[in-house]
Amino acid sequence: MHADDQHVTATPGSELPALKFDNAFVRALPGDPERKSLEPRSVSGAVYSLVQPQAMPAPKLLAWSPELARRIGFTQKQVQSEAFAQVFSGNLQLDGMQPFATNYGGHQFGHWAGQLGDGRAISLGELIDADGCRLELQLKGAGRTPYSRGADGRAVLRSSIREFLCSEAMHHLGIPTTRALSLVATGESVLRDMFYDGHPAPEPGAIVCRTAPSFIRFGHFELPASRGDTRLLEQLVEFTIERDFSELPGSGAARRAEWFSEVCARTARMVAEWMRVGFVHGVMNTDNMSILGLTIDYGPYGWIDDFDPDWTPNTTDAQGRRYRFGHQPRVAYWNLTRLAGALVSVMDNDQALHAGLQRYLDVYAACDRRIVAAKLGLSECADEDIERMQDLHQIMRDAQMDMSITYQALSEIDPSHPSVEPLQPAFYDTSLAQRHGDALRTWLSGYVGRLLRDPLDAQARRTRMHAANPRFVLRNYLAQQSIDRATQGDYAGISELLDVMRRPYDEQPGREAFAARRPEWARHRAGSSMLSCSS
Ligand code: AMP
Ligand code: MG
Repeated sequence: MHADDQHVTATPGSELPALKFDNAFVRALPGDPERKSLEPRSVSGAVYSLVQPQAMPAPKLLAWSPELARRIGFTQKQVQSEAFAQVFSGNLQLDGMQPFATNYGGHQFGHWAGQLGDGRAISLGELIDADGCRLELQLKGAGRTPYSRGADGRAVLRSSIREFLCSEAMHHLGIPTTRALSLVATGESVLRDMFYDGHPAPEPGAIVCRTAPSFIRFGHFELPASRGDTRLLEQLVEFTIERDFSELPGSGAARRAEWFSEVCARTARMVAEWMRVGFVHGVMNTDNMSILGLTIDYGPYGWIDDFDPDWTPNTTDAQGRRYRFGHQPRVAYWNLTRLAGALVSVMDNDQALHAGLQRYLDVYAACDRRIVAAKLGLSECADEDIERMQDLHQIMRDAQMDMSITYQALSEIDPSHPSVEPLQPAFYDTSLAQRHGDALRTWLSGYVGRLLRDPLDAQARRTRMHAANPRFVLRNYLAQQSIDRATQGDYAGISELLDVMRRPYDEQPGREAFAARRPEWARHRAGSSMLSCSS
């Protein structure tokens, strides 16, 4: 199915299929005994509260993921039915659903923040698909929960479009991520102070249904640990290993050690992949770190246009730049040390935790080498190639070269007639192109020499480079354009953009504009170059 086929009118009366649920989290773990009140409160001894999504006045489906819908067993007609919009706005529940919000804490910007929890995310249940795989369905923006801490539990359309598009774009890039099944407008307006300047304004509300085998975060373990609730912590650890890491061998403390090591390895792979494509998460707090090593919580994230390791899209982080692009591998390590700290009381000794953290460093280094080789089109990464890539990055930074376009252009270099010509489209500023032309030529001649010593032939090299260097990434201004159109009532741009992002490594004739440099007007525009956490 083509996203162009997506129509947003609902066909009343289409029945939805019966889905199979196995709500293990709620079944196996202790819940909050208070079931009615949504008063913000501290919930101890429990990892979730049963809640009901709030009624939304006029749900309307705006976009969906065709692959995910098919995987769950929905036909296109069913997706476009009134019932689908009702279910995925939280107004209607299917047999087997049992909505809940979970309880977690987290380190935010380096400081322990105490209990946070799902303030506006409500899980509908754990779906078991036709292949027996678990897929938790979670609505983001479905209303208040005991963890809303005085906020409204809602999400606005602009941030929901961004989460919907980027989850799917990351999936199609082959990067571990939570996914997005649907984007539904609620018909309700939500008050937001977008620029934190004391001018709140009403904005359209929306709900994304996101999916993952598990939404457990580092912060789920940190919270009971911070309260000295070792029993609950131990229960959650055992549950997580049993449900989400059942393939791990052994038992008891040895298995827990394996598990922590696996979490470290997955986190390393995820962050290495972010660095490969130029993704900046923006809010790498420990409550936004998935225990499965999935990219989670798409807020003020962004993509690198002109190469700048110091760039962060998040205006809240503009001062310290804690979560800047080039810092992400170190932050992930720091976050793992927080997780390790939380797990001390349920491990036999610290040795396992130290070994896990070392595994992070080893796996990250191995992934980095693999990525260097793939991005540069080499059969393997020699030590000198790591330096070679660092040198390239220094030039890209000094000369403000576009990251995706530079790597595309490198795959066009002909080693027998080397020229910087194919790299010209990567420059945002012609004077910088001239100033750094000699440095680039010198780098290129070293690179070409290296290619000539490498056993890969030209065809194999290009294939390798094209598989590692995406042509199409969800540039910030592209997402913003689809938001601008949606704000005018034109939702087609969302599915159009999704359709491009479904084949990020392919040539897509007629769609070259989506791979082009960021236009000049977008350089300093809100939404395109910087984003606030207000969502
Ligand atoms: P985030 O920065 O999006 O990761 O969110 C941090 C915490 O704030 C989480 O506990 C969220 O559930 C909560 N939160 C963010 N926005 C809202 C909102 N509009 N209503 C309730 N809770 C929210
Ligand atoms: Mg979050």
